[in-house]
Amino acid sequence: MTTHDFRNFNQTLPLLDYTMPALFIGHGSPMNGIEDNDFSQRWKGLAKEIPVPTAVIVVSAHWFTRGTHITAMDHPETIHDFGGFPKELFSVQYPAPGSPSLAEETASMVHTATIDLAHDWGLDHGTWTVLRHMYPEAKIPVLQLSIDYTKAPQYHYDLAKELIALRKKGVLIIGSGNMVHNLRLMSWEMIKSELGYDWANEMNSTFKTLIVNKEHGRLIQYEKLGKEAMMAIPTPEHYLPLIYSLALQGKNDDVSFFNDKAVGGSLTMTSVKIGN
Ligand code: ZN
Repeated sequence: MTTHDFRNFNQTLPLLDYTMPALFIGHGSPMNGIEDNDFSQRWKGLAKEIPVPTAVIVVSAHWFTRGTHITAMDHPETIHDFGGFPKELFSVQYPAPGSPSLAEETASMVHTATIDLAHDWGLDHGTWTVLRHMYPEAKIPVLQLSIDYTKAPQYHYDLAKELIALRKKGVLIIGSGNMVHNLRLMSWEMIKSELGYDWANEMNSTFKTLIVNKEHGRLIQYEKLGKEAMMAIPTPEHYLPLIYSLALQGKNDDVSFFNDKAVGGSLTMTSVKIGN
């Protein structure tokens, strides 16, 4: 199917006889976008294990807005939203098409919130650093959904629940953030170690236990998970994408973890696959 065909989906995408998994991906450093390492290799491998998506929608930690927006342009630009990295990283382009029709369809599916069509964003590094490893040909349409920073976690969970039907249409929805993400406490001495600080390891296992036990309510109310949770989530933008991914879990969906490692002591790459 060509990108031209995708753009002509002015009706809804057809229902398929399988359900796409949903993912939460710990994206970590922008350098993962150009490095061949354990994380990027797993992203490559994962893309080969799951069905080829009809489109990808990413909820990126790096698009934190007032109101909820979805990219609705034919050709989203590649955004280099970071500083202090090598030139090579700034020269990366990820020219995946967008899908204005899927943006409209997605906005119309959601009733708990208003989703505005956006033409002033593109694909930020929460999206392209991962997708250029998963889908290097950049032929599959990619959209981003923003995170409304004025809203409580429950809003994000309820909104994401309304997107579950997209999984039946072959759309791969990815929450892209990091469960434990405290850059201020990062240790350069621990950058090559896969072990985190004690509090980070503790939160990593707490998160995983709650995810396996499907205790989404407790994950939504993460502020009640104690002092370690506050250290893991000093600001919510890297955690909230997880809430979107978990909301997409169906009754019979198993969860599994990958890239379950810490970087620099205070950041975890731990990622979740929901469904098969
Ligand atoms: Zn990030």
